Amino acid sequence: MKKYKYFRNIKDFVEFTNEPCQFCGSTEDCLEGIYFDNPEINTVCLKCFEQEKAKVIISDYLRNKIKSDMTIKVKELEYTPPVPWIQYNDWQVCCDDFCQFIGEWTRSDFETAAESENPIEFFKSILCTQTLSLVDDINVLWEDLGKGTAAFVFRCIKCDKKIVVCQSY
Ligand SMILES: [Zn+2]
Ligand SMILES: [Zn+2]
Repeated sequence: MKKYKYFRNIKDFVEFTNEPCQFCGSTEDCLEGIYFDNPEINTVCLKCFEQEKAKVIISDYLRNKIKSDMTIKVKELEYTPPVPWIQYNDWQVCCDDFCQFIGEWTRSDFETAAESENPIEFFKSILCTQTLSLVDDINVLWEDLGKGTAAFVFRCIKCDKKIVVCQSY
């Protein structure tokens, strides 16, 4: 299977569907099309996706976050399987490149990653500015993880900083 620069562990964190691939009819490793933000895509298997038969539509909002080699970096992200976002594609950017998505984390994942630190403080310290600006009570958000709220975790490829985006149903 192809290694993706911007997405670690495809098999664990991508959303698969039982619907057959709209290009080849295979039912193996078919990606759910709804996350592509592309009205032409219903389902695509990983093989067809690797052959660039389908792409994710990347918004201007995300494109404009990149300063250098924007076209190359956006193309790489267009052909990266999408995160199963609850609201909208909010792929994180750091050091002028898209970050690597490392997974959807539960409270116990944060507890492990926090090591000796207070896990709620650790969680708060890596929240993206957008999420942080919406938080009234960090404990309420923390308690809602895995229930009404998902935490999507990214890692900067250059400086290794972690950034978390929370989205709620
Ligand atoms: Zn296919
Ligand atoms: Zn960075």
